[in-house]
Amino acid sequence: MSLVVRQPVAVLRSPSLDPDAAPGTGVDLSGADVVLDDGSAEVTEVDARGCVVTPGLVNAHHHLLQSGFRTLPGTRGVPMAAWLPAMAAAYGEAVIDPSLVAATAAVGVAEGLLCGVTTVADHHLNWPLGTPVEHTVEIAAAIAGAALDLGGRLVYVRGSARDDAAWAGASADAIARALVPHGGVTPDGMLQVAVGPAGAHSDGRETFEALGAVAAEHGLRRRTQANEQVDVDVAMAKYGRRPLDLLDEWGWLGPDVTLAHLVDVTDEEVARLAEAGVTATHAPGCDVPMGWGVARVDLLLRAGLPVGLGTSGGGSNDAGHLLADARLGMQVSGLVGAPLQAATVLAQATLGSALGLGRPELGHLDAGTAGDLCVWDVSGVADAGVADPVAGLLWANPGRRPRDVVVGGRVVVRDGVLLTADESELVARLRERVGR
Ligand SMILES: [Zn+2]
Repeated sequence: MSLVVRQPVAVLRSPSLDPDAAPGTGVDLSGADVVLDDGSAEVTEVDARGCVVTPGLVNAHHHLLQSGFRTLPGTRGVPMAAWLPAMAAAYGEAVIDPSLVAATAAVGVAEGLLCGVTTVADHHLNWPLGTPVEHTVEIAAAIAGAALDLGGRLVYVRGSARDDAAWAGASADAIARALVPHGGVTPDGMLQVAVGPAGAHSDGRETFEALGAVAAEHGLRRRTQANEQVDVDVAMAKYGRRPLDLLDEWGWLGPDVTLAHLVDVTDEEVARLAEAGVTATHAPGCDVPMGWGVARVDLLLRAGLPVGLGTSGGGSNDAGHLLADARLGMQVSGLVGAPLQAATVLAQATLGSALGLGRPELGHLDAGTAGDLCVWDVSGVADAGVADPVAGLLWANPGRRPRDVVVGGRVVVRDGVLLTADESELVARLRERVGR
Protein backbone atom coordinates (compact mmCIF):
# COMPACT_ATOMS: atom_id res chain seq x y z
CA MET A 1 0.00 0.00 0.00
CA SER A 2 1.28 3.47 -0.85
CA LEU A 3 1.25 6.22 1.74
CA VAL A 4 0.95 9.98 1.42
CA VAL A 5 1.84 12.18 4.40
CA ARG A 6 0.15 15.53 3.80
CA GLN A 7 1.68 18.96 4.39
CA PRO A 8 4.15 18.46 7.24
CA VAL A 9 5.80 21.54 8.76
CA ALA A 10 9.21 19.99 8.11
CA VAL A 11 10.66 16.72 6.87
CA LEU A 12 14.05 15.43 7.97
CA ARG A 13 14.71 13.81 4.63
CA SER A 14 18.48 13.27 4.47
CA PRO A 15 20.05 13.26 7.95
CA SER A 16 23.70 14.34 7.98
CA LEU A 17 26.35 12.93 10.30
CA ASP A 18 28.67 15.84 9.49
CA PRO A 19 29.03 17.81 12.76
CA ASP A 20 29.75 20.93 10.67
CA ALA A 21 26.70 20.60 8.41
CA ALA A 22 24.88 23.91 8.04
CA PRO A 23 21.60 24.17 10.00
CA GLY A 24 18.76 22.86 7.88
CA THR A 25 20.89 20.45 5.86
CA GLY A 26 18.74 17.62 4.52
CA VAL A 27 15.54 19.22 5.85
CA ASP A 28 12.57 20.03 3.62
CA LEU A 29 10.55 23.01 4.90
CA SER A 30 8.42 23.40 1.78
CA GLY A 31 5.36 21.71 3.22
CA ALA A 32 5.36 19.25 0.35
CA ASP A 33 3.77 15.85 0.90
CA VAL A 34 5.93 12.83 1.70
CA VAL A 35 5.02 10.01 -0.67
CA LEU A 36 5.91 6.38 -0.07
CA ASP A 37 5.05 4.80 -3.40
CA ASP A 38 5.25 1.03 -3.59
CA GLY A 39 3.51 0.95 -6.96
CA SER A 40 0.10 -0.09 -5.64
CA ALA A 41 -3.01 1.91 -6.45
CA GLU A 42 -4.32 1.76 -2.88
CA VAL A 43 -3.22 4.85 -0.96
CA THR A 44 -3.33 5.62 2.77
CA GLU A 45 -3.30 9.31 3.68
CA VAL A 46 -1.91 10.83 6.85
CA ASP A 47 -2.66 14.47 7.67
CA ALA A 48 0.64 15.90 8.95
CA ARG A 49 -0.28 19.57 9.30
CA GLY A 50 1.41 20.88 12.46
CA CYS A 51 3.78 17.91 12.44
CA VAL A 52 7.44 17.18 11.73
CA VAL A 53 8.26 14.00 9.82
CA THR A 54 11.47 12.06 10.42
CA PRO A 55 12.75 8.70 9.27
CA GLY A 56 11.86 5.87 11.64
CA LEU A 57 14.37 5.77 14.49
CA VAL A 58 16.89 2.93 14.54
CA ASN A 59 17.90 1.66 17.98
CA ALA A 60 21.26 0.08 17.21
CA HIS A 61 21.91 -1.39 20.64
CA HIS A 62 19.34 -2.87 22.98
CA HIS A 63 19.13 -5.93 25.20
CA LEU A 64 15.41 -6.67 24.95
CA LEU A 65 15.52 -9.39 27.61
CA GLN A 66 16.31 -6.73 30.21
CA SER A 67 12.90 -5.13 29.58
CA GLY A 68 11.52 -7.64 32.07
CA PHE A 69 14.13 -6.77 34.68
CA ARG A 70 14.02 -3.02 35.20
CA THR A 71 15.03 -1.25 38.42
CA LEU A 72 15.93 -4.50 40.13
CA PRO A 73 17.37 -4.11 43.63
CA GLY A 74 21.16 -4.22 43.49
CA THR A 75 21.44 -2.92 39.93
CA ARG A 76 21.40 0.87 40.42
CA GLY A 77 24.53 2.83 41.22
CA VAL A 78 26.64 -0.29 41.55
CA PRO A 79 29.82 -1.31 39.74
CA MET A 80 29.61 -3.73 36.82
CA ALA A 81 31.06 -6.48 39.03
CA ALA A 82 27.95 -6.29 41.22
CA TRP A 83 25.51 -5.53 38.40
CA LEU A 84 26.28 -8.67 36.37
CA PRO A 85 25.59 -11.24 39.10
CA ALA A 86 22.44 -9.37 40.21
CA MET A 87 21.05 -9.55 36.68
CA ALA A 88 22.22 -13.14 36.19
CA ALA A 89 20.48 -14.23 39.39
CA ALA A 90 17.23 -12.65 38.21
CA TYR A 91 17.46 -14.39 34.84
CA GLY A 92 18.18 -17.67 36.58
CA GLU A 93 15.14 -17.29 38.77
CA ALA A 94 12.89 -16.40 35.83
CA VAL A 95 14.35 -19.14 33.59
CA ILE A 96 15.25 -18.01 30.09
CA ASP A 97 13.02 -19.87 27.64
CA PRO A 98 10.90 -19.00 24.59
CA SER A 99 7.95 -17.78 26.66
CA LEU A 100 10.10 -15.39 28.70
CA VAL A 101 11.98 -13.91 25.75
CA ALA A 102 8.79 -13.57 23.71
CA ALA A 103 7.21 -11.61 26.56
CA THR A 104 10.21 -9.34 27.14
CA ALA A 105 10.81 -8.78 23.41
CA ALA A 106 7.16 -7.91 22.83
CA VAL A 107 7.26 -5.31 25.59
CA GLY A 108 10.56 -3.89 24.37
CA VAL A 109 9.61 -3.73 20.70
CA ALA A 110 6.17 -2.27 21.45
CA GLU A 111 7.72 0.35 23.74
CA GLY A 112 10.14 1.17 20.94
CA LEU A 113 7.44 1.53 18.29
CA LEU A 114 5.46 3.84 20.57
CA CYS A 115 8.64 5.94 20.87
CA GLY A 116 9.29 5.99 17.11
CA VAL A 117 11.80 3.13 16.98
CA THR A 118 11.00 1.22 13.79
CA THR A 119 14.13 -0.96 13.87
CA VAL A 120 15.76 -2.38 16.98
CA ALA A 121 18.95 -4.40 17.32
CA ASP A 122 18.58 -6.90 20.14
CA HIS A 123 21.98 -7.93 21.47
CA HIS A 124 20.88 -11.15 23.13
CA LEU A 125 23.63 -12.26 25.51
CA ASN A 126 22.05 -14.63 28.00
CA TRP A 127 21.24 -18.28 27.51
CA PRO A 128 20.24 -21.15 29.75
CA LEU A 129 23.51 -22.92 30.51
CA GLY A 130 24.21 -26.00 28.44
CA THR A 131 20.93 -25.85 26.57
CA PRO A 132 20.80 -27.78 23.27
CA VAL A 133 21.46 -25.80 20.10
CA GLU A 134 17.89 -26.47 18.87
CA HIS A 135 16.56 -24.78 22.00
CA THR A 136 18.62 -21.66 21.25
CA VAL A 137 16.94 -21.55 17.82
CA GLU A 138 13.53 -21.70 19.53
CA ILE A 139 14.56 -18.81 21.77
CA ALA A 140 15.76 -16.71 18.82
CA ALA A 141 12.64 -17.56 16.82
CA ALA A 142 10.41 -16.53 19.73
CA ILE A 143 12.06 -13.09 19.85
CA ALA A 144 11.83 -12.67 16.09
CA GLY A 145 8.18 -13.74 16.13
CA ALA A 146 7.32 -11.23 18.84
CA ALA A 147 8.87 -8.35 16.88
CA LEU A 148 7.35 -9.35 13.56
CA ASP A 149 3.88 -9.78 15.11
CA LEU A 150 4.10 -6.15 16.22
CA GLY A 151 5.25 -4.91 12.82
CA GLY A 152 8.68 -3.72 13.94
CA ARG A 153 11.96 -4.49 12.24
CA LEU A 154 14.32 -6.62 14.29
CA VAL A 155 18.05 -7.18 14.08
CA TYR A 156 18.62 -10.23 16.18
CA VAL A 157 22.20 -10.30 17.40
CA ARG A 158 23.18 -13.79 18.55
CA GLY A 159 25.29 -12.73 21.46
CA SER A 160 27.52 -14.57 23.85
CA ALA A 161 28.68 -13.95 27.39
CA ARG A 162 31.26 -16.51 28.47
CA ASP A 163 29.61 -19.17 26.31
CA ASP A 164 31.53 -22.21 25.17
CA ALA A 165 32.95 -21.10 21.82
CA ALA A 166 32.03 -24.17 19.78
CA TRP A 167 28.50 -24.23 21.20
CA ALA A 168 28.02 -20.50 20.52
CA GLY A 169 29.21 -20.98 16.94
CA ALA A 170 26.94 -23.97 16.34
CA SER A 171 24.00 -22.09 17.81
CA ALA A 172 24.63 -18.96 15.71
CA ASP A 173 24.93 -21.12 12.61
CA ALA A 174 21.64 -22.90 13.34
CA ILE A 175 19.88 -19.59 14.09
CA ALA A 176 21.09 -18.05 10.83
CA ARG A 177 19.95 -21.11 8.87
CA ALA A 178 16.53 -21.05 10.49
CA LEU A 179 15.81 -17.30 10.53
CA VAL A 180 17.64 -15.86 7.50
CA PRO A 181 18.25 -18.78 5.12
CA HIS A 182 18.93 -16.45 2.19
CA GLY A 183 21.61 -14.21 3.75
CA GLY A 184 21.79 -11.76 6.62
CA VAL A 185 18.39 -10.12 6.03
CA THR A 186 15.02 -11.60 5.02
CA PRO A 187 13.79 -10.52 1.56
CA ASP A 188 11.12 -8.26 3.12
CA GLY A 189 13.78 -6.52 5.26
CA MET A 190 11.89 -7.14 8.51
CA LEU A 191 14.37 -9.54 10.11
CA GLN A 192 18.16 -9.51 10.17
CA VAL A 193 20.57 -11.75 12.05
CA ALA A 194 24.00 -10.69 13.28
CA VAL A 195 26.53 -12.09 15.73
CA GLY A 196 28.01 -10.41 18.77
CA PRO A 197 30.16 -11.55 21.68
CA ALA A 198 29.59 -9.33 24.72
CA GLY A 199 33.16 -8.04 24.55
CA ALA A 200 36.78 -8.88 25.20
CA HIS A 201 36.03 -8.54 28.93
CA SER A 202 33.70 -11.52 28.64
CA ASP A 203 34.57 -13.71 25.69
CA GLY A 204 37.92 -15.01 24.48
CA ARG A 205 39.56 -15.31 21.12
CA GLU A 206 37.88 -18.69 20.37
CA THR A 207 34.38 -17.24 20.72
CA PHE A 208 35.16 -14.20 18.59
CA GLU A 209 36.62 -16.49 15.94
CA ALA A 210 33.75 -18.99 16.06
CA LEU A 211 31.08 -16.28 15.71
CA GLY A 212 33.19 -14.47 13.10
CA ALA A 213 33.33 -17.66 11.01
CA VAL A 214 29.53 -17.98 11.13
CA ALA A 215 29.21 -14.34 10.08
CA ALA A 216 31.54 -14.89 7.14
CA GLU A 217 29.68 -17.98 6.02
CA HIS A 218 26.21 -16.44 6.17
CA GLY A 219 27.04 -12.84 5.30
CA LEU A 220 26.09 -11.52 8.76
CA ARG A 221 27.17 -8.26 10.39
CA ARG A 222 29.36 -8.46 13.47
CA ARG A 223 28.77 -6.40 16.61
CA THR A 224 30.36 -6.26 20.01
CA GLN A 225 30.75 -3.92 22.96
CA ALA A 226 34.11 -2.29 23.51
CA ASN A 227 35.90 0.16 25.75
CA GLU A 228 33.36 0.75 28.41
CA GLN A 229 35.76 1.53 31.27
CA VAL A 230 35.16 -1.97 32.63
CA ASP A 231 36.10 -3.58 29.34
CA VAL A 232 39.45 -1.79 29.36
CA ASP A 233 40.12 -2.64 33.01
CA VAL A 234 39.37 -6.33 32.53
CA ALA A 235 41.36 -6.62 29.30
CA MET A 236 44.35 -4.94 30.92
CA ALA A 237 44.14 -7.19 33.97
CA LYS A 238 43.58 -10.39 31.99
CA TYR A 239 45.75 -9.86 28.92
CA GLY A 240 47.83 -6.77 29.67
CA ARG A 241 46.36 -5.32 26.49
CA ARG A 242 43.66 -2.82 25.59
CA PRO A 243 40.45 -4.28 24.09
CA LEU A 244 40.95 -2.83 20.62
CA ASP A 245 44.40 -4.43 20.38
CA LEU A 246 42.74 -7.76 21.12
CA LEU A 247 39.88 -7.22 18.66
CA ASP A 248 42.41 -6.26 16.01
CA GLU A 249 44.43 -9.41 16.64
CA TRP A 250 41.28 -11.55 16.62
CA GLY A 251 40.20 -10.18 13.22
CA TRP A 252 37.36 -8.12 14.63
CA LEU A 253 38.17 -4.65 13.31
CA GLY A 254 36.62 -4.28 9.87
CA PRO A 255 33.88 -2.54 7.89
CA ASP A 256 31.30 -5.18 8.87
CA VAL A 257 31.92 -4.57 12.59
CA THR A 258 30.06 -2.15 14.87
CA LEU A 259 31.36 -1.39 18.34
CA ALA A 260 28.96 -0.21 21.03
CA HIS A 261 29.92 2.16 23.88
CA LEU A 262 33.54 3.21 23.04
CA VAL A 263 33.70 5.46 26.07
CA ASP A 264 37.38 5.05 26.91
CA VAL A 265 39.28 5.40 23.63
CA THR A 266 42.54 7.18 22.84
CA ASP A 267 43.05 9.45 19.84
CA GLU A 268 45.30 6.79 18.31
CA GLU A 269 42.57 4.16 18.73
CA VAL A 270 39.99 6.40 17.07
CA ALA A 271 42.29 6.80 14.07
CA ARG A 272 42.77 3.06 13.93
CA LEU A 273 39.02 2.41 14.01
CA ALA A 274 38.48 4.90 11.19
CA GLU A 275 41.25 3.28 9.17
CA ALA A 276 39.63 -0.14 9.63
CA GLY A 277 36.21 1.16 8.53
CA VAL A 278 34.55 0.20 11.81
CA THR A 279 31.21 1.81 12.77
CA ALA A 280 30.18 2.79 16.28
CA THR A 281 27.09 2.95 18.46
CA HIS A 282 26.77 5.50 21.26
CA ALA A 283 24.65 4.48 24.24
CA PRO A 284 24.59 7.46 26.63
CA GLY A 285 21.45 6.25 28.44
CA CYS A 286 23.53 3.31 29.66
CA ASP A 287 27.02 4.79 29.81
CA VAL A 288 26.06 7.77 31.95
CA PRO A 289 24.08 6.02 34.73
CA MET A 290 26.61 3.17 34.85
CA GLY A 291 29.28 5.80 35.51
CA TRP A 292 31.36 4.85 32.48
CA GLY A 293 31.54 8.39 31.13
CA VAL A 294 30.63 9.92 27.80
CA ALA A 295 31.88 8.72 24.43
CA ARG A 296 33.60 11.41 22.36
CA VAL A 297 31.10 11.23 19.52
CA ASP A 298 32.30 14.47 17.96
CA LEU A 299 35.81 13.04 17.67
CA LEU A 300 34.54 9.73 16.25
CA LEU A 301 32.41 11.50 13.64
CA ARG A 302 35.22 13.85 12.62
CA ALA A 303 37.51 10.83 12.19
CA GLY A 304 34.98 9.50 9.69
CA LEU A 305 33.23 6.79 11.71
CA PRO A 306 29.49 6.54 11.21
CA VAL A 307 28.13 6.69 14.77
CA GLY A 308 24.69 5.35 15.57
CA LEU A 309 22.67 5.49 18.76
CA GLY A 310 21.33 2.79 21.05
CA THR A 311 19.55 2.68 24.36
CA SER A 312 21.24 -0.47 25.62
CA GLY A 313 19.01 -2.47 27.90
CA GLY A 314 16.44 -2.18 30.63
CA GLY A 315 18.96 -3.34 33.21
CA SER A 316 20.92 -0.10 33.08
CA ASN A 317 18.78 2.36 31.16
CA ASP A 318 15.29 1.07 31.99
CA ALA A 319 13.82 2.65 28.88
CA GLY A 320 13.86 2.07 25.15
CA HIS A 321 13.06 5.69 24.35
CA LEU A 322 15.74 6.45 21.76
CA LEU A 323 14.75 10.09 21.27
CA ALA A 324 15.17 10.70 25.01
CA ASP A 325 18.66 9.25 24.77
CA ALA A 326 19.39 11.37 21.71
CA ARG A 327 18.52 14.38 23.85
CA LEU A 328 20.79 13.12 26.62
CA GLY A 329 23.60 12.45 24.14
CA MET A 330 23.27 15.99 22.82
CA GLN A 331 23.20 17.49 26.30
CA VAL A 332 26.30 15.69 27.58
CA SER A 333 28.34 15.96 24.35
CA GLY A 334 29.79 19.31 25.40
CA LEU A 335 31.41 17.69 28.44
CA VAL A 336 33.91 15.81 26.29
CA GLY A 337 34.32 17.90 23.13
CA ALA A 338 32.53 20.27 20.84
CA PRO A 339 28.79 20.17 21.63
CA LEU A 340 26.83 18.22 19.03
CA GLN A 341 24.00 19.86 17.14
CA ALA A 342 20.52 18.40 17.50
CA ALA A 343 20.52 17.55 13.78
CA THR A 344 23.73 15.53 14.13
CA VAL A 345 22.34 13.50 17.02
CA LEU A 346 19.09 12.89 15.12
CA ALA A 347 21.25 11.65 12.24
CA GLN A 348 22.91 9.24 14.67
CA ALA A 349 19.51 7.91 15.76
CA THR A 350 18.51 7.30 12.15
CA LEU A 351 21.17 7.12 9.43
CA GLY A 352 24.15 6.41 11.70
CA SER A 353 22.47 3.41 13.31
CA ALA A 354 21.27 2.13 9.92
CA LEU A 355 24.76 2.31 8.43
CA GLY A 356 26.15 0.36 11.36
CA LEU A 357 23.62 -2.37 10.68
CA GLY A 358 24.56 -2.42 7.01
CA ARG A 359 21.08 -1.20 6.07
CA PRO A 360 21.40 1.76 3.67
CA GLU A 361 17.65 1.62 2.92
CA LEU A 362 16.83 2.65 6.51
CA GLY A 363 17.37 5.88 8.42
CA HIS A 364 16.48 8.38 5.69
CA LEU A 365 13.57 9.36 3.45
CA ASP A 366 15.35 9.74 0.12
CA ALA A 367 14.63 7.63 -2.92
CA GLY A 368 15.20 3.96 -2.13
CA THR A 369 14.02 4.22 1.48
CA ALA A 370 12.27 1.19 2.95
CA GLY A 371 9.44 3.48 4.06
CA ASP A 372 9.79 3.82 7.83
CA LEU A 373 8.80 7.19 9.25
CA CYS A 374 7.51 9.01 12.32
CA VAL A 375 5.05 11.89 12.46
CA TRP A 376 5.71 14.13 15.45
CA ASP A 377 2.96 16.58 16.44
CA VAL A 378 4.64 19.90 17.27
CA SER A 379 1.47 21.96 17.50
CA GLY A 380 1.11 21.97 21.30
CA VAL A 381 2.27 24.40 23.98
CA ALA A 382 5.47 22.44 24.68
CA ASP A 383 6.61 23.20 21.14
CA ALA A 384 5.29 26.74 20.89
CA GLY A 385 7.95 29.34 20.14
CA VAL A 386 10.36 26.86 18.55
CA ALA A 387 12.33 28.44 15.70
CA ASP A 388 13.92 25.31 14.24
CA PRO A 389 11.33 22.52 14.09
CA VAL A 390 13.92 19.76 13.69
CA ALA A 391 16.20 20.97 16.50
CA GLY A 392 13.05 21.43 18.55
CA LEU A 393 12.41 17.69 18.41
CA LEU A 394 15.31 17.29 20.85
CA TRP A 395 15.52 20.60 22.68
CA ALA A 396 11.83 21.07 23.41
CA ASN A 397 9.17 18.78 24.83
CA PRO A 398 11.36 16.10 26.47
CA GLY A 399 9.90 12.62 26.51
CA ARG A 400 7.83 13.29 23.43
CA ARG A 401 6.38 10.37 21.51
CA PRO A 402 5.40 10.31 17.85
CA ARG A 403 1.74 10.68 16.91
CA ASP A 404 2.01 8.17 14.06
CA VAL A 405 4.62 5.56 13.16
CA VAL A 406 4.96 3.83 9.81
CA VAL A 407 7.07 0.74 9.08
CA GLY A 408 7.52 -0.27 5.46
CA GLY A 409 4.57 1.90 4.46
CA ARG A 410 2.29 0.31 7.09
CA VAL A 411 0.86 2.45 9.89
CA VAL A 412 1.66 0.64 13.16
CA VAL A 413 1.02 3.51 15.59
CA ARG A 414 -1.80 6.01 15.05
CA ASP A 415 -2.60 8.89 17.39
CA GLY A 416 -0.15 7.42 19.90
CA VAL A 417 -1.88 4.04 19.97
CA LEU A 418 -0.24 0.77 18.92
CA LEU A 419 -2.41 -0.79 16.21
CA THR A 420 -0.72 -4.18 16.06
CA ALA A 421 -1.34 -5.39 19.61
CA ASP A 422 -3.20 -4.55 22.78
CA GLU A 423 -0.64 -2.86 25.03
CA SER A 424 -2.28 -4.12 28.21
CA GLU A 425 -2.11 -7.71 26.97
CA LEU A 426 1.64 -7.41 26.41
CA VAL A 427 2.02 -6.07 29.93
CA ALA A 428 -0.15 -8.84 31.36
CA ARG A 429 1.81 -11.55 29.55
CA LEU A 430 5.09 -10.29 31.00
CA ARG A 431 3.58 -9.94 34.47
CA GLU A 432 2.33 -13.50 34.29
CA ARG A 433 5.83 -14.64 33.44
CA VAL A 434 8.02 -12.58 35.83
CA GLY A 435 5.49 -11.50 38.46
CA ARG A 436 5.75 -7.75 37.86
ZN1 LIG B 1 25.08 -2.75 26.02
